[in-house]
Amino acid sequence: MNRCYTIGPMRPWAEIASGVAATSRTSGKIALLAGYLRSLDPDSLAVACVFFTGRPFPAADPRTAGIGWAAVREAVERVAGAAPGAFGEAYDRSSDPGRATYDLLAARDPAATRDPTPGHTPAARDPTPGHTPAATRDLPLPEVQGAFAAIVEARRPAVRVDLLADLLGRLDPLAAMYVVKVLSGELRIGLREGLLESAVAGAFDRPLAEVRHALMATGDIGEVARLARADRLAGASPSLFRPLQPMLASPARDAEEIASRLGAPLWAEDKYDGIRAQLHKLGPEVRLFSRDLHDITRQFPDVAGAAASLPWDGILDGELLAMESGTILPFARLQNRLGRVAPSAGTLAAVPAGYVTFDAIALAPSPGEPVAPLLDVPLAERRARLEALELPDRIALGHLVHVETAAELDAAFDAARARGNEGLVVKDPESGYTPGRRGLAWLKLKKALATLDCVVVGVELGHGRRHGVLSDYTFAVRDDRPGREGALVTVGKAYSGLTDAEIAEMTRWFEAHTLRRLGRYRLVEPTIVVEVAFDRIQPSARHGSGYAMRFPRIARLRPDKPASEADTLSAVAALAS
Ligand code: AMP
Repeated sequence: MNRCYTIGPMRPWAEIASGVAATSRTSGKIALLAGYLRSLDPDSLAVACVFFTGRPFPAADPRTAGIGWAAVREAVERVAGAAPGAFGEAYDRSSDPGRATYDLLAARDPAATRDPTPGHTPAARDPTPGHTPAATRDLPLPEVQGAFAAIVEARRPAVRVDLLADLLGRLDPLAAMYVVKVLSGELRIGLREGLLESAVAGAFDRPLAEVRHALMATGDIGEVARLARADRLAGASPSLFRPLQPMLASPARDAEEIASRLGAPLWAEDKYDGIRAQLHKLGPEVRLFSRDLHDITRQFPDVAGAAASLPWDGILDGELLAMESGTILPFARLQNRLGRVAPSAGTLAAVPAGYVTFDAIALAPSPGEPVAPLLDVPLAERRARLEALELPDRIALGHLVHVETAAELDAAFDAARARGNEGLVVKDPESGYTPGRRGLAWLKLKKALATLDCVVVGVELGHGRRHGVLSDYTFAVRDDRPGREGALVTVGKAYSGLTDAEIAEMTRWFEAHTLRRLGRYRLVEPTIVVEVAFDRIQPSARHGSGYAMRFPRIARLRPDKPASEADTLSAVAALAS
């Protein structure tokens, strides 16, 4: 790519994305990206980087694509002038909505890159006269992002389809393909996390560590690229109401492992079983953000309200829980509050929520002063700052003990369990707060994972690398309620965690033992037993068993087990209680 763009359009971005996908060597991908990013103006640079993460908006942006399959199908068929159903057929060939878009548009318009539709609006399609090849339909990247915003903000589905069709119609098939890939969250160009950071560092000749640090502080690669371009990376810092990726804990086998990894003193905090949330506060304005950075304030008006009158400003990290008069209620109670945009007064009274905070990400040194980041400050000092804050009844400090040995850690674990908590998160008091990283400064210790042996009753074609194989399994346990013995009731669905060879072999088996095809889903002979691991199982109307697993994954095949010996509904009920 040796053309020079002042305003980056979508088509060259798409060419670079294709180039990255076609380049196998990491250094080649980075060089390609760096050269391209260097050529862009600040606004296009920020958008280009965000799109390379596979998202239409920065990770910390509460807007999500939220465009349904039906809208993409309708818009693409309309622009391509294709018959209803054509998109579905194209999708079945590739299991990739972007590829299906390209196939339909290119079939209608094979010479699109050289032969734009007559009657186009030059202002919209030739944003940089003299740079963009005149005959190419294209739009500047910020305009594409603006169109994404309009699509997401449109309330009526028909308007979304119109806006998307309009956008696709103003692009050539390759650019349109990538628009759909980004909008549907399925970019898949082999751009591992970290490569983009290296490309930004390379493009503007900045140290990679500074780029990474700035990214942790802002959570926005577009913003970081702008700062790198302007040589202002040192100024990156967390902002109020722009959530950061939370710091994560690594699993540990047992107390001995933790003691030998971290060494004394060991800071053991209770591991609360709720939902991770970041609390941002400036004066009376409070917002809560979930682990995936969504604004969930409206779901927890009781917690936000309790924080609003406090005399400090800052960003805290912690866990939302169902809590009554200081007592933590089981996770299943909190579930009643989730999935509702705004709980009714009845729900708020029936399931009161609370917040347990265990970290401070940023705090104003004193009231009225600007909020200052604490990312590089050791945990011991962050905790001291946290303990000095005035907190209302509904907001509590996480339980923390300092211990020296593995035996004391085991005792702390039992005490945490006795308090109704999941286990411990043991932390290095010297460590900084590293957003989005699963390092060894936080180690979690919890009850051994449960597994269930389940029967595969349905399969589906996978996605991406697994698009030609039947790798998504729906599985069931045996009903053992009186009068229903022997029936299979579904309890979960998971992508296979098996090896490629096992998946290929199982695909052949499922193909030969399909009972009925229901679109992409196939009912299969209920013979194959798999061991499924999960974090938790709880009541749910989603599956026939009345239970659903959280984070199920297929641990292994159990060829040694006949379906008649798979686990039962009573076993599920026992694990759920
Ligand atoms: P897991 O979900 O099992 O990977 O465990 C990590 C999660 O535990 C975090 O994302 C938090 O939501 C939660 N958690 C509960 N208590 C703590 C704590 N004291 N420190 C850090 N994370 C905690």
